[in-house]
Amino acid sequence: MIKDIPTREEFEEQGMTLLNHAWDTVVERLFDYPDLKEFGESIEDEQKDHYDSASQKPLAIATALLQQGTEFLVKAAIAEVSPFLLIAGNAQSWPKKCDTTDTSFSAFKTANAENLIRIHNTVATTRFTDTFTRNFAQMRRVRNTVFHSVDRNLRFSEKDIIQSILTITSELQGPGKWMVSREKYLESTPLAAFVTEGHGSNLVREFQLLIDLLENSDLQRHFDFDKRQRRYLCPECKLSCSEYYPDIEPRTAQLKPNSQSSCTVYCVVCRATTRVLRKPCNCTPCRGNVINSSKEFDPECLTCGEIPKY
Ligand SMILES: [Zn+2]
Ligand SMILES: [Zn+2]
Repeated sequence: MIKDIPTREEFEEQGMTLLNHAWDTVVERLFDYPDLKEFGESIEDEQKDHYDSASQKPLAIATALLQQGTEFLVKAAIAEVSPFLLIAGNAQSWPKKCDTTDTSFSAFKTANAENLIRIHNTVATTRFTDTFTRNFAQMRRVRNTVFHSVDRNLRFSEKDIIQSILTITSELQGPGKWMVSREKYLESTPLAAFVTEGHGSNLVREFQLLIDLLENSDLQRHFDFDKRQRRYLCPECKLSCSEYYPDIEPRTAQLKPNSQSSCTVYCVVCRATTRVLRKPCNCTPCRGNVINSSKEFDPECLTCGEIPKY
């Protein structure tokens, strides 16, 4: 009998951990850059070139982690049907005495990355899209180059890596799932053993980066967020940010549905829906008309953050 058989959830957790590490590398750089901008005009072209070229190394590693993580997620989708499909080779190549002694799954050779899509698409009820299959093959080529060779022509960008992580998560876990996965990951880091609060504020900071970095089509596709639509303060996120980042204004909520008479705003970061009153704010010079009316919070204007006096 085969023992210690891994589950879909275990492959998935491993895959998401690697994707989150890739994400960490990219957002850390994006957070650093505005600080560097404080040097203002004193940044020389030479310094910028050095910064950009030195960034290629961590971004290359992030791309390799992304590929490795995706491989685990594909294995998870195969394990959903049966983990035994991941065992490679014919019975002769299996570990010695596996037919007479209970043998751990990890002692078996598992399918090569190049065969995973074929295995999945043969047994799963829904096949991967052609785009995903092409991207998977491309990522594998890049990863092999990063780990086994040198290619001076390979260039990595923060935006490409972020887009890939979101596309992969949307394809394998469903649209809009990244924020949930990211929050779960932040709550599971070693530091979370001591710091149990503040994950919400990190999510807000990261999403604010994404609003500037990504196209509107990406934000709509992966978060159902429209950056052309008016953005309001989210009371829940404001509370999360108040301790660690009190200067942040989390404008992460939007009217849902987006209409003159809509009485709720939805926040893409904390996924909270807040009831609002559609009444003009009387704090000058604010022209907002979306006032928090949920009982748990002050009746503040979600445009200017002040409490109107009626
Ligand atoms: Zn929120
Ligand atoms: Zn106001």
